[in-house]
Amino acid sequence: MAELIDGKKISTLIQEEIRVEVSAIKNNGGKIPHLAAVLVGNDGASETYVGAKVKACENIGFKSTLVRLAESTTEQELLMIVEGLNKDADIDGYIVQLPLPKHINDQKIIEAIDPKKDVDGFHPQSVGRMALNLPTYLPATPFGIVQLLERYKIETAGKHCVVIGRSHIVGSPMSILMARNAYPGNCTVTLCHSRTPNLKEHTLKADILIVALGKPEFVTADMVKDGVVVVDVGITRMTSDKTKSGFKLFGDVKFDEVAAKASFITPVPGGVGPMTIASLLMNTLKASKKEVY
Ligand code: NAP
Repeated sequence: MAELIDGKKISTLIQEEIRVEVSAIKNNGGKIPHLAAVLVGNDGASETYVGAKVKACENIGFKSTLVRLAESTTEQELLMIVEGLNKDADIDGYIVQLPLPKHINDQKIIEAIDPKKDVDGFHPQSVGRMALNLPTYLPATPFGIVQLLERYKIETAGKHCVVIGRSHIVGSPMSILMARNAYPGNCTVTLCHSRTPNLKEHTLKADILIVALGKPEFVTADMVKDGVVVVDVGITRMTSDKTKSGFKLFGDVKFDEVAAKASFITPVPGGVGPMTIASLLMNTLKASKKEVY
């Protein structure tokens, strides 16, 4: 039976480590890290995510600023807000919560963010620096996965890593990170997507399997070999009559049967998900300490 990779525990630990560091910075009269978040419109899920990020900042002693804008905000108005945040010397890093309303071009906004303050790691300069293995802000989910592999001392050099999914926020950056000449990394990487024929032939060869396709319980025991390390990124909320809330979260991996064969596995919930906020806070601390630029 696999050892659980406990993202909730590691996320709490990282936040505690940052809290201690911020407290020391405060005591020495240093600058308190300051994260800003821009929320456009009233999307319920986005409000929850941004609320959790702001709360996490408060808990560890960061300064936080929430910029709330109406759904009707124009692209031009948002670009001006972004420009203001770029120029605000007190703000170390900021995020613009995605998705934006349909009349605003997400990519145009991302590219307007000063890469020095791009703590979400979505700016093309951040992505390019990641590909070149230069200091940068890694996007939250891949950074979280890297932290989990590191904290659990999972051996990666020389291993075969199979990634399912090639999105810009998860699969693609994970494939780059696992192939780089660093730890975690130095894997031989296979990147699979919806046009990959005979997926199982690939997954059966994986020493490390990173699954991010968004299809509940897609990976089954017959698709993995004994001893595989499984990172399940998927989160799908489905109705359930077995829970009080009427909903249950499912990963992309059929947990019980795959866990029986794996050496390590991340659960859903409580695996990769909780790491997202820890990653954002780590990036903000880096920005504040000018570790990247
Ligand atoms: P996405 O943008 O929808 O990308 C899904 C990827 O999976 C695409 O590359 C797609 O291939 C590939 N795919 C779809 N069906 C496939 C199949 N049958 N076989 C092989 N590949 C297939 O998704 P995402 O944003 O990366 O998110 C993936 C999952 O992770 C979702 O459940 C999401 O909710 C979750 N997620 C969790 C976190 C977290 O913090 N835990 C963060 C982000 C996302 P094509 O490119 O060919 O279409």
